Amino acid sequence: MSLVLQDSVVFITGGGSGLGAATARRLAADGALIAVNDLDPIAAQKIADEVGGIALPFDVTDSDAFDAAVDQCVASLGRLDVMVNNAGIAPQDVSNKMDLTIANQMKRFEGRIADMDPMNYLVDLTNDAWDRMLRVHLYGAFYGCRAALRHMQPQRSGRIINISSILGQQPSAAAPHYSVAKAGMITLTKSVAAEVAHLGINVNAVCPGYIETPLLTPFSEMVKAGIVTRIAKGYMGEPNDIAEMIRFLSGPESSYCTGDVFTVSGGYNG
Ligand code: NAP
Repeated sequence: MSLVLQDSVVFITGGGSGLGAATARRLAADGALIAVNDLDPIAAQKIADEVGGIALPFDVTDSDAFDAAVDQCVASLGRLDVMVNNAGIAPQDVSNKMDLTIANQMKRFEGRIADMDPMNYLVDLTNDAWDRMLRVHLYGAFYGCRAALRHMQPQRSGRIINISSILGQQPSAAAPHYSVAKAGMITLTKSVAAEVAHLGINVNAVCPGYIETPLLTPFSEMVKAGIVTRIAKGYMGEPNDIAEMIRFLSGPESSYCTGDVFTVSGGYNG
């Protein structure tokens, strides 16, 4: 009996860790051939070896490197069926603003709105931090969609899955650059989906809530505890919760889904 993704070729950016690594394992278990990208060549090779795929390390903000790697994937594995634009970086840790947050919350409860202090999330954001955040997530997804379509359009089939975030839907005041980049990925998804639906190519976005991966390492336990209070399920998700959604969007069961946004957040309400 053949597996549901038997011989499908999948390219995953940021596949050396967290959600990308879980996705590589999940799709490989259903028969897919995986090209694992990551910034870190050792991490990419480790996951590629584990799933019997190939490692293609590069920085997703480099469009020439992206094009070359996707061409190399097709040359090595024969085609490209699924592109998962997953590579990402965390917003800055805001633990240093915790005392100010609590003081402002107290003032809010007491109705002393005018006494609340500025949080300075945006004012403290550097040009470099803003640029890097948009480059990795939004430009990376743009380069990934474009490189994938160059192969998927002639083949008249394919799936593109852009990993956005719940913060792309419910923006965080503490991370305007991350929220903007992730919201941009949702709009990019809908725009590209509308262009290529008639070519047999589906483009969707996944918006994870808070999932336990190395991305959250910079966050203090107190910040994480505050996040969990806003998750209806009462705990953070696991990488497999997202990998299962990506598996669904990679397979035949999701053939009618395109330009759609799939939130997996345990009922997060920011
Ligand atoms: P992760 O464990 O840190 O994995 C992200 C991977 O992307 C890392 O291996 C990282 O490499 C790689 N990467 C970073 N910048 C890159 C670049 N320029 N080019 C190529 N690879 C790059 O994080 P994750 O939680 O799995 O995150 C995966 C995606 O899910 C991200 O887009 C993230 O924004 C999104 N997401 C995560 C959560 C969550 O709670 N975990 C929630 C919503 C959305 P290095 O380690 O070498 O930097």
